[in-house]
Amino acid sequence: MMNKLGVHALVWCGGWSEAESARAIGATAELGYDLIEIPLLDPAKVDPARTRCQLDEHGLAAVTSLGLSFDADISSPDIEVVARGEALLNDALAVTAALGADYMGGVIYSALGKYPGPSLPEGRANCVAVLTRLAEAADRAGVTLGLEPVNRYESNLINTAEQAMALIADTGADNIVVHLDSYHMNIEEGNLARAVEVCGDKLGYVHIGESHRGYLGSGTIDFPQLFRALAKAGYGGAITFESFSSVVVDPLLSNTLAVWRDVWTDSRDLADQAKRYIKTQLEAARHAV
Ligand code: MN
Repeated sequence: MMNKLGVHALVWCGGWSEAESARAIGATAELGYDLIEIPLLDPAKVDPARTRCQLDEHGLAAVTSLGLSFDADISSPDIEVVARGEALLNDALAVTAALGADYMGGVIYSALGKYPGPSLPEGRANCVAVLTRLAEAADRAGVTLGLEPVNRYESNLINTAEQAMALIADTGADNIVVHLDSYHMNIEEGNLARAVEVCGDKLGYVHIGESHRGYLGSGTIDFPQLFRALAKAGYGGAITFESFSSVVVDPLLSNTLAVWRDVWTDSRDLADQAKRYIKTQLEAARHAV
């Protein structure tokens, strides 16, 4: 079982100009990663044709991710806000397909940010309705959608694997998967292995990030437990390294994620170490189960 290994573009650059995308894609390929995850919080900032040429030049695959804003939140009870969110998701899906990518995930079910109160049943129903329609469009484009449970300060709707599974079941779509992220799991899941088990074959994408989102192995996350659970589940999907430091800033994303400190300064050293760390963990887990 060979998992494709990826790196999030924010390890390299905060924007997606021609020079930035060339540098991010080139460096990702040089380090031997299989794919790059491109953020689409503002889909208009990504030129899919140009990016696709750069990807092809390096033989690299892409996936995309985004979180919604509070004025384009499909889990809102306000139908105008929901409509803006649905339009944005459709724009992001079009860019994803034009990139030749087969996966779009993240906080595509609510705003990415701290809510002032709990989610509302009518808001959740709006989310289910939009995701059901989006999944149909994604299916026609050959794209799988991923719902990423995030910690309580970044959404009030899906904080755990169990909540993601329940929402997927409510859509009835078979091309929506769970996208687990070790950084968020470390905050919200009582047991990392149990969260993987809960997803079963609906686990479709994994983010590997440290407890402080810096160098893997320098924080408090029990990665051996998580990788053993992935091996035991026979998980064969992508594993993408995600890390944020204030040396690389995307004005839309960095403030939302509360990236206030330099937890690293050298992107290449960080990404190189992460790939070696993940490979070592995968190998050890394979022998352990
Ligand atoms: Mn993540």
